Amino acid sequence: MKIRDLVRNQIRDLLPYEVQGPFEGKIKLDIMENPYDLPEAVKDEFLVELQGLGLNRYPDPMANGLREALSVNLGIDRGMITPGNGSDELILDLLLCFGKTKIVYPEPSFTMYEILARIVGVETTGIPLSKGFELDVESILRIGSGGVIFIAYPNNPTGNLFDREGIIKILKMDSLVVIDEAYYEFSKETFLPLLERYPNLAILRTFSKAFGLAGARIGYLVANREITEEILKVKLPYNLNAISQLLATIALKNRDLFRVKIDEIIGERDRVYKGLQDIQGVTPYPSKTNFILFKVDLEARRVFNSLCNEGILIRDLSNVVPLKDSLRVTIGRPEENSIFLECLRRIMEGDRL
Ligand code: PMP
Repeated sequence: MKIRDLVRNQIRDLLPYEVQGPFEGKIKLDIMENPYDLPEAVKDEFLVELQGLGLNRYPDPMANGLREALSVNLGIDRGMITPGNGSDELILDLLLCFGKTKIVYPEPSFTMYEILARIVGVETTGIPLSKGFELDVESILRIGSGGVIFIAYPNNPTGNLFDREGIIKILKMDSLVVIDEAYYEFSKETFLPLLERYPNLAILRTFSKAFGLAGARIGYLVANREITEEILKVKLPYNLNAISQLLATIALKNRDLFRVKIDEIIGERDRVYKGLQDIQGVTPYPSKTNFILFKVDLEARRVFNSLCNEGILIRDLSNVVPLKDSLRVTIGRPEENSIFLECLRRIMEGDRL
């Protein structure tokens, strides 16, 4: 007997998701993490509350404390909010529930849409973005209704916001349209007010980026009650652990404390963009997120490796066909960003000598 023969067909030829192990270098700017630890006041409150948490008990299956805090924060009915173990888990739940016929997403975009759709075993269609990284709305409309359409807004890895009117045309289709607003706090653009108008709209958010809680794995889905009730059928009962529920609730209560750092990251993003523009052979793309995609006129893989040798980890996108000469850098602390820019300048100039 071969174990491989017992595996479901759609899983057999998949590769495990490639995640960089612990990084020995000094500067880690690869996966859109927040460079700052939690505000001290949030940490202190969390540590006090943790004492009374009672981890011998299962967590609240509906994470009602967090739902309530989100409801107040967003001005949205609690019954429309589903917390998840990172937004990744909610993408899987959406697919388990609504992945009936086909899954559509722009390419390049966040890779988990395709990976999870393949795991669920539903047909996937990637629609290439235009040269200017805009959505090909006509092609999406041509595919026709049914299934699920994922749109990251702003998009990862390109960093831009797609044209809003185009997305509204897509929302008029009879498909579930998931707008993934993982970078909302940096773009400040949202489809939340359109939830009432479009019953097929679902919005994903995360605590992993602006709130700096990537390690606690907390995301949430906002959608009307009908969609939410379907999602609850597939949601694992205790998907969000008690520690993360507590932490996210405290973070949300103190959300004003995060604002200074979010503004600083936005300011740094604009400074890094200009810094990249000033380096010969580098072309950055405008970004509404906490990362910047940029093109290099040398072999991208070599530039990536040279940065690694200097202890700086960014993301090499040269294996993504339309981005074969591109790299992505996450915005870090000001001093990290300056070192990154300086090293990149030296590499780009040095290679030309
Ligand atoms: N959506 C997008 C567009 C992302 O870029 C990411 C993370 N890279 C996620 C979702 C996943 O976030 P989480 O940590 O909440 O699973």
